Amino acid sequence: MKPTTVRQFFQKFPNDDACLEHLFNVRFGQGHVCPKCERSAKWYRLKSEQAYSCQWCGHHIHPMVGSIFEKSRTPLQLWFYAIFLFTTSKHGVSAKELQRQLGVTYKTAWRMACLIRDHMAAIDGDAPLGGAGEVVEVDETFYGGVTTGMDWRERKAVVMGMMERGGDVILKVVPDQQRWSLLPQITNNVKPGSEVHTDEHRAYKKALPVDDYTHKTVNHGQGEYATLDGVSTNQIESFFNHLKKSIAGTHTSVSHKHLERYVKEFEYRFNRRMQPETMLDELLSRFH
Ligand SMILES: [Zn+2]
Repeated sequence: MKPTTVRQFFQKFPNDDACLEHLFNVRFGQGHVCPKCERSAKWYRLKSEQAYSCQWCGHHIHPMVGSIFEKSRTPLQLWFYAIFLFTTSKHGVSAKELQRQLGVTYKTAWRMACLIRDHMAAIDGDAPLGGAGEVVEVDETFYGGVTTGMDWRERKAVVMGMMERGGDVILKVVPDQQRWSLLPQITNNVKPGSEVHTDEHRAYKKALPVDDYTHKTVNHGQGEYATLDGVSTNQIESFFNHLKKSIAGTHTSVSHKHLERYVKEFEYRFNRRMQPETMLDELLSRFH
């Protein structure tokens, strides 16, 4: 299966009504049991509002309520198209770009981008990585700011990445590189029995629970990038390179407050790199 093209997108969603109908079908559907009269019903689209009505009792269902589109005056087709852009981009979508492509205000574009990123993060979830016989690479990277200074807002942000070799990634923005910041992330997100590869950063040394994980290190300080028995953090590092280049290229800079949102957008896309054609359908059908 190939990713949806722009042409296919507009064939499937030619107008706001088609988008609303899609939303009704994926969230409720014909035959949906009416919450009021409790009968399986045929639902009729109302002309006067963006809602459907029960054939028996006339109860209304608003398909946008409880989705990221609730309380938005932006036409649904623009929302769907914005989501389409997020699935086809390799380097992320800025609010500025949405503003330009959709013809909405910057404020609206910014709000849409935040909600879409949060939607991607919620669907992606953080199912633990690894397991017996699996390798999970763990590393951190810095983003923005300065190394020293009293004001934490001016300091570099630390993005921690855990990546199952050949599998999914989980990213977390953590307060610092201290042991107590890094280790709980591993125990929460990496299954016991995994082989954990890190560099020689002292926070990991002798601190990973030895009964749960096999810990192996690669010594970057000595110019080592992979040991002979395959210990490396090359995959997570190459992901970080892509992430940093993309954020710099697309957004110029991102505040610490919103950094986690941006990195989750990249996490979502990376975890679907083997089946990119599923992203649009997934993002337009899972609202909870
Ligand atoms: Zn009813």
